[in-house]
Amino acid sequence: MQPRDLSAHAPYVPGRGTEEVARDLGLDPDDLTKLSSNENPHGASPKAVEAIEDAAPTVSVYPKTSHTDLTEELAAKWDLESEQVWVSPGADGSIDYLTRAMLEPGDEILEPHPGFSYYSMSARYHHGDANQYEVSKAADFEQTADLVLDTYDGERMVYLTTPHNPTGALFPTEEIEELAESVDDHTLIIVDEAYAEYADEPSAIELLSDYDNIAVLRTFSKAYGLAGLRIGYSCVPESWADAYARVNTPFAASEIACRAALAALADPDHVEKSVESAKWARDYLRAELDVPTWESAGNFVLAEVGDGTAVSEAAQREGVIIRDCTSFGLPGCVRVSCGTEEQTKRAVEVLNRIVSEVPTA
Ligand SMILES: *Cc1c(COP(=O)(O)O)cnc(C)c1O
Repeated sequence: MQPRDLSAHAPYVPGRGTEEVARDLGLDPDDLTKLSSNENPHGASPKAVEAIEDAAPTVSVYPKTSHTDLTEELAAKWDLESEQVWVSPGADGSIDYLTRAMLEPGDEILEPHPGFSYYSMSARYHHGDANQYEVSKAADFEQTADLVLDTYDGERMVYLTTPHNPTGALFPTEEIEELAESVDDHTLIIVDEAYAEYADEPSAIELLSDYDNIAVLRTFSKAYGLAGLRIGYSCVPESWADAYARVNTPFAASEIACRAALAALADPDHVEKSVESAKWARDYLRAELDVPTWESAGNFVLAEVGDGTAVSEAAQREGVIIRDCTSFGLPGCVRVSCGTEEQTKRAVEVLNRIVSEVPTA
């Protein structure tokens, strides 16, 4: 017995967890500063934590009402019909739903390189294939319609990430509109706004009333601090929104996750404070790191350190976990997530010491 040929399926490489690293290094996880996965260093809203505790006795029941309530709350927030909100286990779940809804076997997607690896993984799981457009370091990772159109060859799905992971670059709204107007009728533009709360830009969700070829991904994993629960959603145009019923995995967004997301939505102060803190940290990282960095609209900063693997391994030995960007296709860079003030200062101190010792190529 063998699974199907999975040789084209590259495994996802996550940022390393504190417990894993602590075990390897023989350290206490509490002594580690984890800035490798763009998580919220302030945790979830206390209201969400309370909702999780309150929901514990109800986990024997399938999530039905909570899923409906969350969908309606999100529809109200974005001024959409409830069918247009596709709740999913993380935004990753929405990537799968959109792929299922769009791709026939052999169809292709177009995605940014460097970029988020799950877009192509999902396409391959669904018997499709992936092509890349280059978001280039030489152009400071600028993202425009022309950049995508230069490579575009009629792919069924085109992914845009704004703010872009791992660079922090924006994809301006006018450029998204130009692209939506330029692609073939069968092409869906997916705007991944996993980090949109940290940017001062209007959401592409506002474009859904004018375009039926744009879908937008959002998540509770980043600014809302609920990464461990796996809850996100996508917003899609009304004309084909009913496809959700045919592609979603039944009850994939759990009771506890839906309840926690509802409570998190009811605590905008927590998101606001988390965003303010991240903005402080990204300014601090850019001002204080002794290596080139790029302007970021997300809760992380990309830094050019010469050898990303060597520098992230050296930082890890000192208890600071950052993300080596080799797996993203940027071997000279590391990505540092915005931590609390204390964590961010510690990361800067450790990184500056390391780069002064390791030659930066
Ligand atoms: C974190 C992230 C997501 C979504 O993560 P989920 O935890 O599945 O919601 C999507 N896109 C990008 C670019 C991300 O960095």
